[in-house]
Amino acid sequence: MKTNSEVLTEVESRKLLTEWDVPQNSHGFAATKEEALVMAEKMITTLVMKVVSSKIVHKSDFGGVKLGLKNVDDVANAYDEIMQSALSHQVREQDIEGVILQEMVEAVQEILVGVKRDPVFGVTIVVGLGGVWVELMKDISLGISPLKEKDILHMLQKLKGYPLLNGYRGQAKGDINALVQLIKKVETMALHNQHIAEMDLNPVMVKREGEGCLVVDARIVTG
Ligand code: ADP
Ligand code: MG
Repeated sequence: MKTNSEVLTEVESRKLLTEWDVPQNSHGFAATKEEALVMAEKMITTLVMKVVSSKIVHKSDFGGVKLGLKNVDDVANAYDEIMQSALSHQVREQDIEGVILQEMVEAVQEILVGVKRDPVFGVTIVVGLGGVWVELMKDISLGISPLKEKDILHMLQKLKGYPLLNGYRGQAKGDINALVQLIKKVETMALHNQHIAEMDLNPVMVKREGEGCLVVDARIVTG
């Protein structure tokens, strides 16, 4: 039986990822609408706002993710809509910590990277196409730690959707090398931190070849 297991919010999960140097998009936490607006005034890029609450695990199910915010008005409206939506889903106001504002990232492909600590096999890693494809195609690939870089590449190549990362029909190629490095870091993080029971990085935005990849959502379970 697992005891004292805790699901960290995106903000808390990102803190852990930062400690281990896992690449993420730029982001900041705002506890109030005023703080969010101050952050938005300094914005130089399109933003995303998400609800932060330990009671909300799947933020978009609660209307808690607003994409494509281009100015302060967009940010103000997104804040109001997110709060309204959370309350209408029976989340109490005192259970909402605030919002996370972050850079909106365009990707060649969204990928999910998952980690589980298995009682028999130890650290296991799962990769798959992010977004709707995962649910639709059940297209995932599994690996058991320790994994060399070439093993991780092989896991990716086993995905039916791998061509989408590799320049399918003249589309841009994704930065597969950066993705392999990211997965390697995540594996190291799990191997060295016994408190991490599970990690769900979904999505990881894989940008064009040479441009890297960034985690834009993270959920870590400790325990
Ligand atoms: P959830 O808790 O519902 O998984 P996510 O943070 O993953 O919330 O957001 C839902 C979806 O919104 C993602 O799958 C992704 O397609 C999109 N998204 C989230 N953050 C960003 C971002 N920073 N840039 C671009 N798209 C994003
Ligand atoms: Mg997500």
